[in-house]
Amino acid sequence: MQERLNQNLLEAIERIEKARIAVDRKRIVQLVAVSKYSSKEEIAALYACGQRAFGENKVQDLQQKSSALEKLPLEWHFIGSLQSNKINTLLHLNPYLLQSLHSLELAQALQLRLERENKHLNALMQVNSAKEESKSGFMPEVALEAYARIQEECKNIKLCGLMSIGAHTDDKVVIQRSFEMTWNLFSQIKGAEILSMGMSGDFELAIACGSNCVRLGSVLFK
Ligand SMILES: *Cc1c(COP(=O)(O)O)cnc(C)c1O
Repeated sequence: MQERLNQNLLEAIERIEKARIAVDRKRIVQLVAVSKYSSKEEIAALYACGQRAFGENKVQDLQQKSSALEKLPLEWHFIGSLQSNKINTLLHLNPYLLQSLHSLELAQALQLRLERENKHLNALMQVNSAKEESKSGFMPEVALEAYARIQEECKNIKLCGLMSIGAHTDDKVVIQRSFEMTWNLFSQIKGAEILSMGMSGDFELAIACGSNCVRLGSVLFK
């Protein structure tokens, strides 16, 4: 298993590097290994290959895996749709970054809890840049205004940038348009640092469109 994961990781890094160097030699692109379909043994094996950042999309899975692997200095990203009844559980896990802040109501509910516990949370605002009903996130038209409002009203949430999932289609032009839309918003936000775009099927295109954080699951754990 270790051998196979190591090979997958090396191949993914090579592809990220190639895409990155083609557009911007100075940009640093972070790799988050999405472990939602993987066991704690596979996560530990990929960590042993040098990978540190992992992403989960269900609070319960994050809870189980992070506690089973608590001896390892892993950086946990939450990338799923967070329901308000799971907020307390998530906050107690102290995630490194909530990548999927998808609504104003969620931001306000988080702020209440954070304030009460005197905690802070790093987060990315999720943008539904392909405007797909099946996806959560802020619509691009309202994203900038909402970003400013959360910064203003939710002092315990530290917004660090944007996250988006590329359009759900095989049409590269449509996917590219959704990435460009997100980049365009990102470029208008003063102080935003992280633009999280790109999954196994589209990460090179995402990097070409300005992503500096890719979330890869299947190519790493196949
Ligand atoms: C599952 C998932 C990924 C990884 O998807 P792959 O296609 O397996 O790389 C990335 N981001 C989010 C939000 C996900 O839910």
